Amino acid sequence: MLTPQLQKLISSVPSPTQKTEQTQTKKRKKMEKSIEIFDVIVIGAGIMGSCTAYQTSKRNQKTLLLEQFDFLHHLGSSHGESRTIRATYPEDYYPKMVLKSETLWRDAEEQIGYKVYFKTPQFDVGPSNNKALQAVISSCEKNSIPVRVIDRNTMFQEFDDLIQLPDNWIGVVTEYGGVIKPTKAVSMFQTLAIKNGAFLKDNMEVVEIKKDSLTGGVLVMAKNGEKFCGKKCVVTVGSWMNKLVRNMTGVVIPIQPLEATVVYWKIKRGYESKFTIGNGFPTFASYGELYIYGTPSLEYPGLIKISIHGGRPCEPTDRTWAPTQSLDPLKKWIQEKFGDLVDSTRPVVTQSCMYSVTPDEDFVIDFLGGEFGDDVVVGGGFSGHGFKMGPIVGKILSDLVIDGETKDVELMHFRIKRFEKNSKGNLKNFDDQVSSSH
Ligand SMILES: Cc1cc2nc3c(=O)[nH]c(=O)nc-3n(C[C@H](O)[C@H](O)[C@H](O)COP(=O)(O)OP(=O)(O)OC[C@H]3O[C@@H](n4cnc5c(N)ncnc54)[C@H](O)[C@@H]3O)c2cc1C
Repeated sequence: MLTPQLQKLISSVPSPTQKTEQTQTKKRKKMEKSIEIFDVIVIGAGIMGSCTAYQTSKRNQKTLLLEQFDFLHHLGSSHGESRTIRATYPEDYYPKMVLKSETLWRDAEEQIGYKVYFKTPQFDVGPSNNKALQAVISSCEKNSIPVRVIDRNTMFQEFDDLIQLPDNWIGVVTEYGGVIKPTKAVSMFQTLAIKNGAFLKDNMEVVEIKKDSLTGGVLVMAKNGEKFCGKKCVVTVGSWMNKLVRNMTGVVIPIQPLEATVVYWKIKRGYESKFTIGNGFPTFASYGELYIYGTPSLEYPGLIKISIHGGRPCEPTDRTWAPTQSLDPLKKWIQEKFGDLVDSTRPVVTQSCMYSVTPDEDFVIDFLGGEFGDDVVVGGGFSGHGFKMGPIVGKILSDLVIDGETKDVELMHFRIKRFEKNSKGNLKNFDDQVSSSH
């Protein structure tokens, strides 16, 4: 029989396992003292990464945002002068995300004290039997978004005589349209993140992310040899996603980079003001063989942006910087819809931009899984239509990385696993059109 004193002495001697744990804890504490550990490291400072860093820092997470180039560079997807915001989607899961984003855009504008979002109606047009356009009408109804459906005879009441609709075409008007200024918007979220206490570092190309056995978190390695330690990590690297994730884990997320072209056209002299938001001119999209989209005259007075959704598959490092598709169908469309009010003979300005496209054009928002489990979250594949939803995507990514779940949206359509079941991803019942854009 052991005396109580002897028992106390024995229980205070650590077992071999306890000893290892104690050593690990000591090492961890020492390391925590010697290197800075972030709660969340966000990689990629486009609109998605900048919105995520804003949201995580708002929730008092010690946040680090890393960018491979200069902040606000023009080599990815989130730069430039205009992006459409619209709630009209054939898929009924996007409108609610757009409406939530609208509130978050306004909140951010209020905090920063300037505007990045300019509201105007959205006008979708196309052949009356176009399945995607019909799905747009149903999805608006399902989401309680009021729509007015018009034809060529009632067109005049909406937009004067500025746009002509062919005989068998219809137009769908909703109030939820507008233009967002992308570079200014990214800068706004980066500034708000800094105000919340986030750390931002540019010219910091991440080459590897690995599990850190010592801290239990993740180690983020940059090309210049610097290392960053985080409890969690969010990867929002746009058209670089596929390559980075494949190099890190061997996992292939089917996100194809495309080089896309933005095109501006000259408005007939004397008509410039008619195509402005001040005159109620809408953001617009045309369904049919091609998906064509445009924004009112805003960033370049006297010019209007009208472009084709899509582009040339290429790596972001292998760009032409020149138009990637024939502009002939676009010229024809402009001539038919705007007559001589817009000069369709040649564009005045063309700009290059990167898309990162999934087979179903739905986003990828998910945990990376594998050895990273729930510690690494990815947000990518925004397929040429993600900008408008940047604020809600940032909120969702921050919820996932902090809480392990989000109450904002059903993530089913955005999971990586969908490509295991079907390499084309989510099935759409409007196969006569690219699923979505802009
Ligand atoms: C021509 C064009 C028109 C569009 N029009 C619309 C529209 O009208 N409406 C709409 O809603 N959306 C539109 N979009 C889509 C929208 O702009 C994109 O969905 C959105 O910008 C994607 O943002 P992102 O943050 O995922 O990618 P990006 O903006 O590309 O950001 C990713 C960032 O990660 C950085 N990065 C990459 N690799 C690393 C690394 N290893 N280490 C560190 N940093 C790294 C990149 O440099 C980049 O800054 C359009 C896109 C284009 C190209």
